[in-house]
Amino acid sequence: MQLYNNLSAKERAELIEQAGKERLTISFYKYAKINNTEIFRNHLFLAWDQLEVLGRIYVANEGINAQLSVPAENFEPFKNHLDTISFLENVRLNIAVEHDNFAFLKLKVKVRNKIVADGLNDASFDVTNKGVHVNAQKFNELIEDPNTVLVDMRNHYESEIGHFKNAVTPDVDTFRESLDLIEEDLREHKEDKKLVMYCTGGIRCEKASAYYKHKGFKNVFQLEGGIINYVRQIEAEGLENKFLGKNFVFDERRSERISDDVIANCHQCGNPADLHTNCANEACHLLFIQCEDCKEKMENCCSTNCMEINQLPFEEQKTLRKGQGNSNDIFKKGRADHLPFKKDLRNIFETMKPK
Ligand SMILES: [Zn+2]
Ligand SMILES: [Zn+2]
Repeated sequence: MQLYNNLSAKERAELIEQAGKERLTISFYKYAKINNTEIFRNHLFLAWDQLEVLGRIYVANEGINAQLSVPAENFEPFKNHLDTISFLENVRLNIAVEHDNFAFLKLKVKVRNKIVADGLNDASFDVTNKGVHVNAQKFNELIEDPNTVLVDMRNHYESEIGHFKNAVTPDVDTFRESLDLIEEDLREHKEDKKLVMYCTGGIRCEKASAYYKHKGFKNVFQLEGGIINYVRQIEAEGLENKFLGKNFVFDERRSERISDDVIANCHQCGNPADLHTNCANEACHLLFIQCEDCKEKMENCCSTNCMEINQLPFEEQKTLRKGQGNSNDIFKKGRADHLPFKKDLRNIFETMKPK
């Protein structure tokens, strides 16, 4: 039964009809052995460029990870092209809930060592021995089970604005960190608990589930197609939505609202807010949550210091930045001592355990 994870021809036709001249925002991934990544990359670029596809696509020997947007009227030829590639035939396409014609502004197809920077040594475990994939309905049942531990495999700035009810949300900056933390906290429960995991589109759970099985977890489940696909299913099948807040996405939209709950706070004043912004000071660019009031008062900056720099003429800012290096790395995402209301999520695990 593939009904739940692929749009039927009828659903696709309706979607395209609704979208009209608009673009559809789509993501997909596939782990598959790709030998000549450079040739494959060029092949994709030439074909998709003609179809006016925009987006960010990573190609590696281990597979492909794609986030892109396609003009609705070119969706069928795009799908047909995917089907001509043996390992992408009928690949599950995660189609966004909210579309934005400006989600991506360029087509970038890059060859990388891995399709997700997961920090894992794949040779040390069997990456194909994955967890059980579950659809939204089964997932909803599983997470009500008192024997289940539900784990969010994303990073802190993602789960902060939205996550499943009762999920453990590790306070981590990287996927690798998360893996160790969860294993450590659940050491005693590798056999008796059901480990149920989810991420944005499912790709991180593909490796994580195999890793945990390798580490001795007996009951490992993963949400098929992640949050993006979950939302489509609950809408299509009229299921209860158990996701609170917003789904963080990696394009210009930054997030999709899934429920009306605002579960985060402005990092500057503490009022309810769940809109991420990048500090306007080019040399800072910190990703943090800022409410409308603070946005105005702080001129889109994370601190008065950044505000002052941002007010300087551009040339002067450039001189200041010289030799400073690029501070915009992942470890700065949503972390700074001067943001008093950035919550520490690390202890959530402890409060979760006795259900
Ligand atoms: Zn505020
Ligand atoms: Zn700043």
